[in-house]
Amino acid sequence: MNFIEKVFVVAEAYSYPLTQRILNQLQLKPQIVSGTEEVRQEIAGEEDIIKKGKKILVLDISKAKFIKPCPCTPVYLGCGYLVINADLNCPLDCSYCILQSYLDQPWLTVFVNQDQLAQEISYWGHKRKGYFRIGTGELGDSLALDPLTQRSRDLCQMFFSYPQAILELKTKTTSIDLILKQKCLPNVVIAWSLNAEEIAHREEKGAPPVKDRLLAAKEVVKKGYRVAFHFDPLIWYRNWEEGYGQVVEFLMANIPAEKVAWISLGALRFPPQLKAIIKKRFPNSLCLTQEFIRGLDGKYRIFRPLRVEMYRQVMNFFKASKRYQKVKFYLCMESAEVWNEVMGEKKRSERGICVFLSRPLN
Ligand code: SF4
Repeated sequence: MNFIEKVFVVAEAYSYPLTQRILNQLQLKPQIVSGTEEVRQEIAGEEDIIKKGKKILVLDISKAKFIKPCPCTPVYLGCGYLVINADLNCPLDCSYCILQSYLDQPWLTVFVNQDQLAQEISYWGHKRKGYFRIGTGELGDSLALDPLTQRSRDLCQMFFSYPQAILELKTKTTSIDLILKQKCLPNVVIAWSLNAEEIAHREEKGAPPVKDRLLAAKEVVKKGYRVAFHFDPLIWYRNWEEGYGQVVEFLMANIPAEKVAWISLGALRFPPQLKAIIKKRFPNSLCLTQEFIRGLDGKYRIFRPLRVEMYRQVMNFFKASKRYQKVKFYLCMESAEVWNEVMGEKKRSERGICVFLSRPLN
């Protein structure tokens, strides 16, 4: 964690066990502040505030609810997912990252009031009787700060008593040491965001090569975990078929199909306000050269026939293998029409998708 240059602790958060655990690991003297305005002032003069924010850690108390239904995107089909907003922002620097425009606080925030988080997990664990999916990878990478926070271990302990809650930890990293050290729970799924190697190299600054992510997945499978994969965002480039095909081939050669909980596909999409940020921070990004339309939610989306073609082709790579016939696929933030076109089946309701994905294979 030597990329962290400065750590701020909001006074209220100081005495929490998670704060103390993190401070004990860091070789930095924390600056105690009364609120995050002081952090904002600290970085105000920076040329690239987003880049600087990725080197600043703030330990704070969450005053909002930790757990919320995934907002998905207006008009499109959701999947009934619940998100846990325990850590905000991410030390990796992907050109297409929505957090660049979504979060108004560019630093890394770790919310330390895990007592409240445990209460909320208990509430949802009692409220939802059937299987449901829940995860931390919405507003940050689930494992990027794990060597420092050990959040994965705490979450696994909190979910131990709720086997119908499928906890997904989603990452682009290979930070699996803690995952490998703890007892594997059947309701914990470790997930990787994947892309064609060329896209990862060009657009996912700070993230390891895709092959390394898949080798990390292989390790956690050996430990007994189920894994999931998100081909998201699919980005068009000249050799996209070859590039995505190679990743699928490597995945299938290393990961047994029966250990795959689900695979999602999502094509590049982002709100208009992100475009100016990408132009400024990543002027050579492929995200600026796609054939876009404006979706019903106002976001830029890859032209529909093209994204349908990409979804179909990536799924075909999998379906060519007998072993992968039964694996569950879904589309992230897509319309019912595209779902029908790609999946060749009638639109599922949000609840239907939720049950379909959450139910164990056997
Ligand atoms: S890994 Fe995810 S959260 Fe982190 S920068 Fe990339 S897209 Fe954003």
